[in-house]
Amino acid sequence: MADTPTVNRSYYNCNDCPAYCCSIYERVQVTPRDVRRLAKHFGITEEEASSRYTKMYAKERVLRRKADPLFGQACQFLDPQTRGCTIYHARPAVCREYPDTIRCAYYDLLKFERNQQDDVNVVPLVKITFRNGK
Ligand code: SF4
Ligand code: SF4
Repeated sequence: MADTPTVNRSYYNCNDCPAYCCSIYERVQVTPRDVRRLAKHFGITEEEASSRYTKMYAKERVLRRKADPLFGQACQFLDPQTRGCTIYHARPAVCREYPDTIRCAYYDLLKFERNQQDDVNVVPLVKITFRNGK
């Protein structure tokens, strides 16, 4: 998230993206190991890191969010101007793995719409939620 992987070939460039993945997902999972990493990064206890930077969402521990000028809400660690991660080296594992494919659907959408609108700066606003389709 919010940076381009250096390994393998990929068809997206996070540096050219307003950080959809850091904004439109309500839940960014945080594991105990992630909490330890955050605690170390900020020089605080794991308990402090957990209560300051995470919350429970259903039965899952996730990162807290904050207001975002572009998408309404985003991860608390996203810089609203640069659209980069402010804790890049301490970000959770799920952020390191995302999108875990050679393509990013949001980047494809961004490129598609910028081409369609003939505007290199336009940002299509999308919202994603999930529902059991059965
Ligand atoms: S949405 Fe895709 S291109 Fe944009 S920052 Fe996330 S992984 Fe990178
Ligand atoms: S921790 Fe960083 S990479 Fe992960 S969602 Fe937040 S801003 Fe994005």
